[in-house]
Amino acid sequence: MSFIKRKKTKQIDVGGVKIGGGAPIVVQSMTNTDTRDVDATLEQIERLFDRGCEIVRCAVPDERAAVALREIKRRSPIPVIADVHFNYRLALKAIESGADCVRINPGNIGTFDRVREIVKAANERGIPLRIGVNSGSLEAELIDKYNGPTARALVESAYRWVGKIEDLGFYNMKVSIKSSDPKTTIESNEKLSELIDYPLHIGVTEAGSSREGIVKSVAALSVLLREGIGDTIRISLSEPPEDEIDVCYELLNSLGLRKKRAIDFVSCPTCGRIEIDLIALVKELKKRLSHIKKPVKVAVMGCVVNAIGESKEADLAIAGGRHFGLLIKKGKRVKKVRESELVDEFVKLVEEYVEEI
Ligand code: SF4
Repeated sequence: MSFIKRKKTKQIDVGGVKIGGGAPIVVQSMTNTDTRDVDATLEQIERLFDRGCEIVRCAVPDERAAVALREIKRRSPIPVIADVHFNYRLALKAIESGADCVRINPGNIGTFDRVREIVKAANERGIPLRIGVNSGSLEAELIDKYNGPTARALVESAYRWVGKIEDLGFYNMKVSIKSSDPKTTIESNEKLSELIDYPLHIGVTEAGSSREGIVKSVAALSVLLREGIGDTIRISLSEPPEDEIDVCYELLNSLGLRKKRAIDFVSCPTCGRIEIDLIALVKELKKRLSHIKKPVKVAVMGCVVNAIGESKEADLAIAGGRHFGLLIKKGKRVKKVRESELVDEFVKLVEEYVEEI
C-alpha cells in the first residue's frame, strides 16, 4: 500500500494498542478539558474516538486529576496516557489510577531516585512509559555544551535517559523528542532513530494554529515518515484536538501509511475555464459528507478537462459544466444534474455507494 519501508522497532502495548514493531502508525491527541471534570473529559475523548483517535493523553496537573483518571480510564473507549510534569507523586498516583501509560520528561522530574520510583511502579503494573525530552526539560549542562536546545543536545539527553532507565531493567518504553522547530524535529529524530530501537512518538510541539501549525507539522513528519521513522504521531495544533486527528489521517493517507476513515477528496484548484461555483460546492460537500466513515475517493472537478482522468481514479466524481454537473461512478456517467440539485444528488449517490461497499 505504501512505498515507504518502515524502520523495525521494538513493539510495546499501550492498553491493548500496539505501537512499533510493524504495527500501523498510531494516531494520538490530547484532551484540553480540565481532567478533574470527568464528564467533560470523557465527552471529548468520545469525540476524539469518533474521529479515529486511537490513544488519548490527559494532563495530570494535581492529585484530583490523578484520581479522576481512574473513572476516565474506566469509561474511555481508548487507552489513556497520563501526562505528568515535575511531580513524581502524580505519576505514581496516575499509575495507581490505572493509566495505560505515563508520559514523563525525566529531566523535569527532579532526582533520579524519583524517576526510579516511577519506573518501578510502571514495571509492577506492566505498563509502558513515554520518555520525553524537549527544550524545557533539557539539562542545563547540555544546553551549555551545545549552545542551546539543539538537536544534538536533545538526542544526547534522550539517549542518556533511555540508558539510565534500561539500567533499571526497564525496556517497556517509547521515546519522544519534541521541538517547535521542524528542522530540529527532523534532525533529532533521525539521530535518535539511529541510536535506539524503541518506538518513537513524533510530532512538532507548539506548532501553532491551522495553516502554520499544519504546514510545520506535515513538513517535519513527512520527512521522518518517508525515512521510516515514527510509530505514533500527534499533530499539535492550537485548535480543537479533534481537528488534529483529521490532519494525522490526511497525512498518513497521503503517504499510503493508513487509510482515512472518511471521504478522500480530490478537487481542482479552479481556473478560467470554470463555469460552476466549485469552491462553494466542495465546501458544502465536505460538510454534508462528514458523516461518512469509509475510505471513499471522491473527485470534484470544475470542467471535463481533467474530470475524465480523475474520475477513473476516484470511486465517485462530479464534472462541472455551465450551471450543471455530471455525476460519475467508477469512471461511468450516471446522470447530468442542475447546479442547484448537485449537492443533494451527489450526497445521495455517495450514501448509496457506501451501502454497497
Ligand atoms: S478541472 Fe477544469 S476548471 Fe478545474 S482547474 Fe482543471 S481545467 Fe480548470
